[in-house]
Amino acid sequence: MRIDILTLFPGMFTGPLTESILKRAQEEGRISIHCHDLRQWGLGRYRQVDDRPYGGGAGMVLRADVVVRAIEEVSGEGAGGAEGSAGKEGKGSAGSAERPHRIFLSPRGKRLTQTRVERMARSYDHLLLLCGHYEGIDQRVIDGGWIDEEISIGDYVLTGGELPAMVLIDAVARQIPGVLGKDESAHEESFSACLKRKREYPHYTRPEKFEEFAVPDVLLNGNHAEIERWRREHVL
Ligand code: SAM
Repeated sequence: MRIDILTLFPGMFTGPLTESILKRAQEEGRISIHCHDLRQWGLGRYRQVDDRPYGGGAGMVLRADVVVRAIEEVSGEGAGGAEGSAGKEGKGSAGSAERPHRIFLSPRGKRLTQTRVERMARSYDHLLLLCGHYEGIDQRVIDGGWIDEEISIGDYVLTGGELPAMVLIDAVARQIPGVLGKDESAHEESFSACLKRKREYPHYTRPEKFEEFAVPDVLLNGNHAEIERWRREHVL
């Protein structure tokens, strides 16, 4: 899977994307992640990307002309408005055969759930993630069809879309075959279909006794049927 990110703060992505499982997934070529600084498409000497909101009020709004040029360029589309860009078929995109599925991270979006994460990993081999900042983006970017889906990571407001983008990338990446090593598995986890979308049972490891707390006997007796039954009884 290829993931392109449009952000005002590309530096924020170093760290989360360059460690552990995501690092390995990129080294093995299972995902490729590309950060693009929105200011590249900014206007004039100061590379302006935002302006004051019509109607007044605090905060700045990311400009539609800047954001749309960035989306189109990264999607591999020329200028020419949203024609054909809201559907799944596009003109093709930089680095993959189809144009990307375009997601705007926004508190107004649909909630990111495990089911949505699994669907994204299954359905798309190229995502474009647009991170808002300040008050957000000009609504015409959405109304004009340059965005396929608005996604929220929860009912609270963060300063920018960068952390939500990282959450989405991490959750989607671990659903891609081969990304998790043999000691990790996305199969029987909280919210997985196999646990009927419930929360996972508790885990224990050595020592068998820790302070006054002992590991439940059933997990020590080697009876797999009983262990399985105990685990099913302890999903929430
Ligand atoms: N004015 C917006 C509102 O009230 O809905 C909030 C803008 S927020 C300060 C700036 C940016 O952070 C948003 O455009 C979005 O990209 C991102 N953001 C903030 N909270 C988010 C959330 N819960 N989920 C996804 N993105 C979020």
